[in-house]
Amino acid sequence: MTEKTQRTVVVTGGSRGIGRTICCELAAPGTTVYFNYFNPGDPEGEAAAAADTEKMVAERGAEAKSSAVDVSSTEDVTAFFSGILKDTGRIDVLVNNAGITRDGLLVRMKEAVWDMVLEINLKGAFRCTKIAGKAMMKQHSGRIVNIASISGVLGSAGQANYAASKAGLIALTKVTARELAPRGVTANAIAPGYIITDMTATLPEDVKAEYLKQIPLGRGGTPDDIAKTVNFLASEDAAYITGQVIHINGGMYM
Ligand code: NAP
Repeated sequence: MTEKTQRTVVVTGGSRGIGRTICCELAAPGTTVYFNYFNPGDPEGEAAAAADTEKMVAERGAEAKSSAVDVSSTEDVTAFFSGILKDTGRIDVLVNNAGITRDGLLVRMKEAVWDMVLEINLKGAFRCTKIAGKAMMKQHSGRIVNIASISGVLGSAGQANYAASKAGLIALTKVTARELAPRGVTANAIAPGYIITDMTATLPEDVKAEYLKQIPLGRGGTPDDIAKTVNFLASEDAAYITGQVIHINGGMYM
C-alpha cells in the first residue's frame, strides 16, 4: 500500500450506470477505486467511458484505476485482483455490480443465453468474492456489497435467467455473511427496482409505463438512489448490518 492510500475499493462494472455512480460515491481522499468493465462489442467506447469515470473519481479527490476485465473469466479476474493486491496489499470494499440482462420467455430461452447471464451475474460475483473475501479475512475487516435486483425476489416474467442469477446472488450474500462474520467482514445485498440507466433505456415504452404504474413513489430510481446506500453499507456506521437485502424500489415491492 502506498503512503497516500488508506482504503482500497473494488467495483465491478464501473464504466457507466449504477457502477459509475458507486465509484464516485465511494471516492474520498486516501481511497483508490479499482473498477473494471468489459464490452468486446465496443472496446473503444467502453475505454472512453471508463476514462470518464476515472476523471469523475479524481474530481472527488480519490484515485481511480480501470481495467478491461471480464468477470466471466476466472483468468481475467485472478489477474485483476493479483494486480490490486500487489499494488495496495488490501481490499477494504468489494462491490459486485457488473451485470447483464438477456430477456426472453422461459420456454424459448436458449441454454447459451441462460449460461451467459448466470456466468456474469452470479459466477462473476463468486469469483470476485472468493479472492477479495480471502484478503478481507486476513485483514479481519472488509465490506462486500452485492447488487442484486427486485427481479430476484419477484421472479419477473421474461427474466428466468436474470431472476435466477439475482436470487442466487442474494443466497451467495447470506452465505458470505455467515462465513466471513467471525473475521469482522460484512456482506449485504441491495435489490434495486426500476433504475434509469442504459440497461433499462432499451425497454419498450409500454413496459416502462407499466413499471411506473407499479411504483408508489411515482418515478424510476436514479443511480444515486443506489450508490448512497452502497456508501452507507461500506462505512463504519453499518458495522452491525450483515446478511441483509436492502430493497430500493420506490415501494414497487414491500
Ligand atoms: P449498465 O448501465 O448496463 O452497466 C453494466 C456495467 O456492468 C457496465 O459497466 C458493464 O461494462 C459491466 N459489465 C457487463 N458485463 C460485464 C462483464 N462480463 N465483465 C465486467 N463488467 C461487465 O447496468 P446498470 O443498470 O448500471 O446495472 C448495474 C447493476 O445493477 C447490474 O448488476 C444490474 O443487474 C443491477 N440492476 C439494475 C437495475 C436497473 O433498473 N438498471 C435494476 C436492478 C438491478 P461494459 O459496458 O463494458 O460491458
